[in-house]
Amino acid sequence: ALMTGDQYVESLRKLKTRVYIFGERVENWVDHPIVRPSINSIKMTYDLAQDPAYQDLMTATSNLTGETVNRFNHLHQSADDLVRKVKMQRLLGQKTASCFQRCVGMDSFNAVYSTTYECDQAHGTHYHDNFKNFLKMVQENDYVVDGAMTDPKGDRGLAPHAQPDPDMFVHVVARRDDGIVVRGAKVHQTGSINSHWHLMMPTIAMREEDKDYAVSFACPSDAEGVYMVYGRQSCDTRKLEGSDIDVGNPKFGGQEALVVLDDVFIPNAYIFMNGEYDFSGMMVERFAGYHRQSYGGCKVGVGDVVIGAAALAAECNGVERASHIKDKLIEMTHLNETLYSCGIACSAEGHATPAGNYQINLLLANVCKQNITRFPYEIVRLAEDIAGGLMVTLPADKDFKSATVAGRNGETIGDICTKYFAAHEDIPTEDRVKVMRFLENICLGTAAVGYRTESMHGAGSPQAQRIMIARQGNIDGKKQLVKDIVGIEK
Ligand code: SF4
Ligand code: FE
Repeated sequence: ALMTGDQYVESLRKLKTRVYIFGERVENWVDHPIVRPSINSIKMTYDLAQDPAYQDLMTATSNLTGETVNRFNHLHQSADDLVRKVKMQRLLGQKTASCFQRCVGMDSFNAVYSTTYECDQAHGTHYHDNFKNFLKMVQENDYVVDGAMTDPKGDRGLAPHAQPDPDMFVHVVARRDDGIVVRGAKVHQTGSINSHWHLMMPTIAMREEDKDYAVSFACPSDAEGVYMVYGRQSCDTRKLEGSDIDVGNPKFGGQEALVVLDDVFIPNAYIFMNGEYDFSGMMVERFAGYHRQSYGGCKVGVGDVVIGAAALAAECNGVERASHIKDKLIEMTHLNETLYSCGIACSAEGHATPAGNYQINLLLANVCKQNITRFPYEIVRLAEDIAGGLMVTLPADKDFKSATVAGRNGETIGDICTKYFAAHEDIPTEDRVKVMRFLENICLGTAAVGYRTESMHGAGSPQAQRIMIARQGNIDGKKQLVKDIVGIEK
């Protein structure tokens, strides 16, 4: 059954997940002020699924059970499902202005489902049934699953087996009748601490020498031997100061962590690849393709909020009618909707895999993500242009609320700040400060992790997309078009 948002938060408390922040084990990480905004973002994926207004986007009918499931736990059954996925992500981006973390699981479900099917056909293995049973359990419990792909990778010039430290890629260290023991780590894992389970996948195509590294499996987030180290974000400690205004986005945020697998036992039922190195590349390519499509939804939704904040900043400053301001808002909208167009296009051009779920158009998904590595930077540049320097020079919320007397007529620091940072007379200074802090947060504070650097490197760095664009671009076919038209025989 579907969980409510509150049930989701309570379900996290029951886990024994080992979390380290600033070098210390944190027992009650659910209520930790640095972690909580990231939990609120995932909670929104549950809350919206309960809202009748959003159910056609937020839920779907499972092909495995016939039951209603959260779309984040769904296997795409049509190109229409792929389009709805992007629309759902845009909605969540609009509601949270952050990374809501649950998409990596959805993208890994769809990649592992189709890859295990094709691997079984080639090798006579039974991973597809294992995976279907796992996913049924996830759907029935409405769990969050972290799709974990990125290994530390060590020396980038060396294959996994050739690394001086064999643990730089997750690998099998023991094979038993009842399962395997795995060791290694996954880095910058989005939402890992807020997930009930992890679905691990290899991070690159493998060769025979790397057989022990071609491994995919599921494990509970609190399995014996698993622990997580929280990633810092710029300005993160502002969340410990107690001011909603100074943090910019008081409700929502993203999360990344280092996930360590310190000899974790995985029972046979949860293994989805164990040495079939020839299918490692397929799993990576499909997962990355889905996650590149995803960015055409989530970052567009966040972009909507950035554009809104820039327009509000212009109003606060009383310049909303200036023609260059209007033109900058048009440019931001143009860039943002171009990203959306790519997300919709690679979805509408989707096709069925042999396993029956739907795969996006890989070329268009890679073009989508390549644009994502550029346009949010330009959108943020224009937002900073419109906002003005105040977004990085404003005094603290504590100054605005300070009762310390400083002026010759008894004015407090609070009075002075409120007086001199007023602009348009109908707009309270505090509202202007909120908008400025929101923009600071997303342009260069904690949320810039999600909107900028994650846009650059999440779902693969720009070069990874260029390799796929080269592979899918069919230059030979394009040369042939010319030859046919002008009459060149060979
Ligand atoms: Fe989802 Fe976007 Fe976060 Fe990836 S970056 S998990 S697609 S919200
Ligand atoms: Fe991501």
